[in-house]
Amino acid sequence: MKEKLLLLISLQECDTQLVKLSSKKIKLPEKISKMEEDFRLYQENVEQNKRKYDELKVRRAECETKVKKLNEGMIKTKERLLEVKNNKEYQAMLKENETAEKTRGDIETQIIALMEEMDKLSVLVKNDEETLKQAGIKHEEEKKIIEDDLSAVDADTVNWASKRDGLQKTVPADLLAQYERVKKRNNGVGVISVWKAVCNGCQMKIPPQLYNELQRSNDLLSCPNCNRIMYFQNQEKSA
Ligand SMILES: [Zn+2]
Repeated sequence: MKEKLLLLISLQECDTQLVKLSSKKIKLPEKISKMEEDFRLYQENVEQNKRKYDELKVRRAECETKVKKLNEGMIKTKERLLEVKNNKEYQAMLKENETAEKTRGDIETQIIALMEEMDKLSVLVKNDEETLKQAGIKHEEEKKIIEDDLSAVDADTVNWASKRDGLQKTVPADLLAQYERVKKRNNGVGVISVWKAVCNGCQMKIPPQLYNELQRSNDLLSCPNCNRIMYFQNQEKSA
């Protein structure tokens, strides 16, 4: 009987590992997605200065286009001035030119302010880029550990499943059926260790007489509370 019990314990080990692996197969990809999302949010936050810088760059380009148009307009006005015959028209054109010059002056002041702000931002952006680069390296390293773990899952599953197949053939049919039945009712655990008169599955105290019997007898005994097949294990020795 002891030998059969050892077979069941090995079978239980296979089943426990297979459950762990199938949970990993679901959870690890979720963990990777979560990491990716967290990093994306972090990146978005770090890139705030860069976005601001790009925004200012667009505004500066817009200002420069305006200045260019004003300059072109002023050249045309000057050309027209040469052809003007009457004084009133001449004065109006001078006034037009004056207004354009003032507007250009205002826009040029804006451009200088934009450039100063961009200079300050570009220092921050450089720092942010370095921060992001370092964080990116760390993120990739951490992700790789999980990806490696995940890529080992399939091979491990094949190994444990084939070990289980081999073991299952050596367990008598009635015992196997009992194990499967108890396991199904007890969250995947059909065989459980008992130490210091406590069932490690349901944490219930085993009556003294049964506990004695468990340590001495070769009979297959079940926990009176959870029905799992019990085996005695000195956990001080095994630890
Ligand atoms: Zn129990």
